[in-house]
Amino acid sequence: MATNTKFQAIRGTRDLLPPETALWNRVEQTAHAVFSTYGFGEIRVPIFEQTDLFARSIGFDTDVVSKEMYSFADRDETSVSLRPEATASVCRAYIEHGMHALPAPVKLYYLGPMFRRERPQKGRYRQFYQIGAEVLGGSDAPAIDAEVIEMVMAFFAKLGLEGAKLDLNSIGCRDCRPKYVELLRAELSKVKEKLGPDSQRRIETNPLRVLDSKLESEQGIIATLPRIAAHLCDPCAAHYTAVKHNLVLRGVAYHENWRLVRGLDYYMRTTFEIIAPGLGSQNAVCGGGRYDGLVELLGGHPTKGIGFAIGEDRLILSLQESGKAPAAHGRDVYIAWMGEKTYPTAVRAARALRGAGFAVELPAVEQKFGKALGHADKLGARYALILGEDEVASGQWTLKTLADGTQAKFTEAELLQYLRR
Ligand code: AMP
Repeated sequence: MATNTKFQAIRGTRDLLPPETALWNRVEQTAHAVFSTYGFGEIRVPIFEQTDLFARSIGFDTDVVSKEMYSFADRDETSVSLRPEATASVCRAYIEHGMHALPAPVKLYYLGPMFRRERPQKGRYRQFYQIGAEVLGGSDAPAIDAEVIEMVMAFFAKLGLEGAKLDLNSIGCRDCRPKYVELLRAELSKVKEKLGPDSQRRIETNPLRVLDSKLESEQGIIATLPRIAAHLCDPCAAHYTAVKHNLVLRGVAYHENWRLVRGLDYYMRTTFEIIAPGLGSQNAVCGGGRYDGLVELLGGHPTKGIGFAIGEDRLILSLQESGKAPAAHGRDVYIAWMGEKTYPTAVRAARALRGAGFAVELPAVEQKFGKALGHADKLGARYALILGEDEVASGQWTLKTLADGTQAKFTEAELLQYLRR
């Protein structure tokens, strides 16, 4: 490679820079705080796993596994993949660590980067970040589904995200869904000619996915198809009714969307999605649902499970669009020191102020007074602490409020007291 090559971040990946990273930190700290109030503990799983784990849990035929995974042969030739999501890893860890022996249900949350080779656009990246949670083991009581959803909404509310819309559906179980899928297949076959090639193919492979179609020309046909709500078995219908009742009880508004589906067999009953404003076409900010068969599919005991994943990139975009991003944090105090002899005092002042929690800029090189104030202004500092030889000699330091230019004299102890106020 020529030595003048300019390196760039790989397509679909991005650098997150200050001040935006302050917002990322706030979002993540809020997740830790809110989720722990619901009794969730953080789990950290590896960024890469055996390819088979994802293939088996997400499904060999899904786009994620067949087209979007970053898979490679390790040096010993095992196929490993960068994680495209974390639910499979969390279930693997649950089995590996015998967590079924813990008091049920086990409530875990995670955050971190995921990797999918999708076509990048606003809100869609190849390295993106998810914040998710899983409830594993115990019962499949509808109150659990509702509480998990309540927790996401509480998290969004705490962040000041407004206008998030919750879509809800039930996709039945192993007993009732196959019958509905057959009915759907039969109905779709009758109108096959009017459907696009993707949907035509899905009549055979996965008719439920036709309901996902965004194709304008198919919307009229889809509207006339049978709806799963009318075909749920009694236990599934009762579960769905109870989930809705439990959401009302918690003051969580929802919108029933019978077209919200998940194509894999181990998904069952509750599915949900949350749409956030200001995001354009990539507006889903959270997806979740019940997956009672997954742990068993991965070699564990039959285990109830429900979870969700929030797209952190999109959540942040939506907060920024709605003006909910906090203002960039500048410096509290800029120390304008003048004269070599004042430098030791400046260093000590910086340490005392930082120790008290203030953000301090201590210029490494002496600057002329005017230049120092200009620099302080550019950094968004609130105060300039002026330390000239007179100040150091008298022990009376000058504090300048940069917004209005007023000045006052303080001893070191008075200064800390004043700033703390
Ligand atoms: P999924 O794991 O596909 O159910 O996605 C859950 C959430 O992750 C979605 O609602 C999005 O907010 C987010 N997400 C999924 N894929 C991407 C991506 N390529 N870029 C950014 N966010 C994504």
